[in-house]
Amino acid sequence: KLYNQVQDLKGSIRVYCRVRPFLPGQLSSNTVGSIDEGNITILTPSKHGKEARRTFCFNKVFGPSSTQDEVFLDTQPLIRSVLDGYNVCIFAYGQTGSGKTFTMSGPKNATERTQGVNFRALGDLFKLADQRKGMFIYEIAVQMIEIYNEQVRDLLVSDGFNKRLEIRNNSQNGINVPDASLVRVTSTSDVMELMNIGLKNRAVGSTALNDRSSRSHSCVTVHVQGRDLTAGTIIRGCMHLVDLAGSERVDKSEVTGERLKEAQHINKSLSALGDVIAALAQKSSHVPYRNSKLTQLLQDSLGGQAKTLMFVHISPEFDAIGETISTLKFAERVS
Ligand code: ADP
Ligand code: MG
Repeated sequence: KLYNQVQDLKGSIRVYCRVRPFLPGQLSSNTVGSIDEGNITILTPSKHGKEARRTFCFNKVFGPSSTQDEVFLDTQPLIRSVLDGYNVCIFAYGQTGSGKTFTMSGPKNATERTQGVNFRALGDLFKLADQRKGMFIYEIAVQMIEIYNEQVRDLLVSDGFNKRLEIRNNSQNGINVPDASLVRVTSTSDVMELMNIGLKNRAVGSTALNDRSSRSHSCVTVHVQGRDLTAGTIIRGCMHLVDLAGSERVDKSEVTGERLKEAQHINKSLSALGDVIAALAQKSSHVPYRNSKLTQLLQDSLGGQAKTLMFVHISPEFDAIGETISTLKFAERVS
């Protein structure tokens, strides 16, 4: 059964929608009408009090009470395939506050139960690599970078903000960022330590009113190399875990200077990502990878034999309805 699931995912794009629960103190009406497997119905109350309904269809919809465990269960088959040499990309998309970081990293001070996809994915890789001991020897190494204003920076060094990194393409390693720290990991505690360093460095430059992390894409890249002890061959797989910048539209009449520049960069890179995934979903002969740093970086992990999973996040409250609809439309286009 698992094998079939993995086969189904090959070269394909899956889209999961996740609805954040109401947060303590939020007193707004609910825009989520119903959820049924892959279908979600959104209620859009109109001016005249007449309610309009709109249904969107995805591979799966996780309601507000779904747990991190449940979400990960449907992510697991993808992660296993990295050990077999596939490239995998997992994205978190949605407006700021919709739960992207919660899905990927978990809440602040996450416990084992509330850990997100990143930590669980690495935990699974270690477990499976251990099960294959005697047949394969695996090496797992991690990079963590940020793309902010179309510039790539290392999140694993504290002075990474001063150094811009280049994305390279060479025949041996494919697309890579050779100057970003690459750290070998052998246990989940190694991973936890690294992710905390990355999250701390990501927060540099943010203030209470100016949360820079919501305006940059962060990417944990896991490189897996396995030596097949019987065949003597090497297999390589790579997994990108991407917490995207907030997708909210910024009113261009209200921001200037630095904020306007940021908004334009985010807009450009998220639409470039949408264009690439939509081209792949439509099996178009031209896939426009070159239009942003994000799509350049992920070029050999999107399309071809690679497997892609996009989590689209929505907030349930009425105030967010505009962004919710535009998020769901984006997701519909790429699925
Ligand atoms: P984003 O990264 O999209 O800006 P966050 O992940 O930071 O959003 O989520 C915003 C807030 O909502 C955080 O306090 C987070 O802990 C909480 N939250 C998000 N998703 C969930 C969820 N599924 N269950 C409980 N709390 C959540
Ligand atoms: Mg976030």
